[in-house]
Amino acid sequence: MNYKSTRGDVAGISFKEAVMMGLATDGGLLIPETIPDLSDQLDGWANLSYTQLAVEIMSPFIDDISRADLTLLIERSYSTFNHIDIAPVRTLGPVQLMELFHGPTLAFKDVALQFLGNTFEYILKQRNTSLNILAATSGDTGSAAIAGIRGKQNINIFIMFPEGKTSPVQELQMTSVLDANVHNIAIEGSFDDCQTLMKSIFSDSEFKQKYCLGAVNSVNWARVLAQIVYYFYAYYKLGCPKHFDVCVPTGNFGNIFAGYMAKQMGLPIRHLILASNSNDILVRFFETGVYQRGKVSLTHSPAMDIQVSSNFERYLYYLCGTDSAKVKVFMDSFLSTGKAQLESVASADKTFRCASVSNEETIELIRRYAKKYQYIVDPHTAVGLNVAEQMVDSEVPLLCLSTAHPAKFGDVMAAADVKVSHPTLAALKGLATKKTVIAPDIDRIKALIVEG
Ligand SMILES: *Cc1c(COP(=O)(O)O)cnc(C)c1O
Repeated sequence: MNYKSTRGDVAGISFKEAVMMGLATDGGLLIPETIPDLSDQLDGWANLSYTQLAVEIMSPFIDDISRADLTLLIERSYSTFNHIDIAPVRTLGPVQLMELFHGPTLAFKDVALQFLGNTFEYILKQRNTSLNILAATSGDTGSAAIAGIRGKQNINIFIMFPEGKTSPVQELQMTSVLDANVHNIAIEGSFDDCQTLMKSIFSDSEFKQKYCLGAVNSVNWARVLAQIVYYFYAYYKLGCPKHFDVCVPTGNFGNIFAGYMAKQMGLPIRHLILASNSNDILVRFFETGVYQRGKVSLTHSPAMDIQVSSNFERYLYYLCGTDSAKVKVFMDSFLSTGKAQLESVASADKTFRCASVSNEETIELIRRYAKKYQYIVDPHTAVGLNVAEQMVDSEVPLLCLSTAHPAKFGDVMAAADVKVSHPTLAALKGLATKKTVIAPDIDRIKALIVEG
């Protein structure tokens, strides 16, 4: 399988090249040149474990890693999960909930970042080169990226976060990692300052090349690929239904795009239900065909507080009938004016349903589920469940994805009057930590990278 860009100026690159490239060099996103149809093979995989299934789903997309090596990479990636099923499913009333938070940092991003970290290490070893990962985080992504990269050979990771502005648990999840290749940089400024610094360092192409800078953000194809697997796994967990619906708490559109790929690959998903918080750029798009930037508002589900959904362009490419010229016109218009529109809403496809959920509704749902099911959900999952409840259809099973463990969001749990803890987080208290606190100064950060 080769990869090409949604903007049409990059094509014919291999899986390993796509992983190393991250964002396509023409500014687009990388996608496979064709989508394999696995529908004829579904019957044969019902008894596979999560990792065995992952090998079957991922290998059609990877020509340049042997099946034996891929198997090892996948096994290593999910050996850090603390549930034997990796992604167990439980019944809550009319909804089936898939728990994707059994990885080392208790959020679904581990599913992709554990695999990405191992894949980076594998490629770098073969090429005998090294990589410096630079990332800005307001919380969740940082700890999952660190957990994916810590202790790996030939990779350093530099994580910038706003000093004092992440939650105490999130900060501890990052700073308690003492591996020599992990560098926590607390910036005396805002999350925006961190992102601005990151962009200006990446735009210095001489520095970027000299120090082999790389990114781990959600546009990396390997992250999408690893996420496709659990949609297939869910199908078997639900007993191979004729059709099923999936509801996904959505921010950057990475998770739900993996579901869209799974459907194109022949998995019998009927509707993909997009659940958003009040940052509803995607809901507005699906309702009107207009994609328009708004102001970010801070909600109880911070990992979904986005202005622009970085993976949306992949979906847009298929929605435009795989016409790169159309994608370019749309994205150029969006980047220059903050607004873009498809010719007609009718071209929006019938796969997606969507709704957005307020902070009050999020709290109400957490409270209600604790009472009714004695089950505590995190605020992102609560957004998903609220929308899932609106879309229940007694004819078709409905799966909702649970994206984080509730103990990560203690303040929201307190607001909902529920108590929840997790041994992994409790064990962080009192651990030694390391971080470098610096002013938002590009030269200081570059110096840290140069020192390694
Ligand atoms: C990142 C994240 C999301 C959003 O996922 P996208 O792929 O960006 O749509 C939802 N919930 C949690 C807990 C997350 O960390």
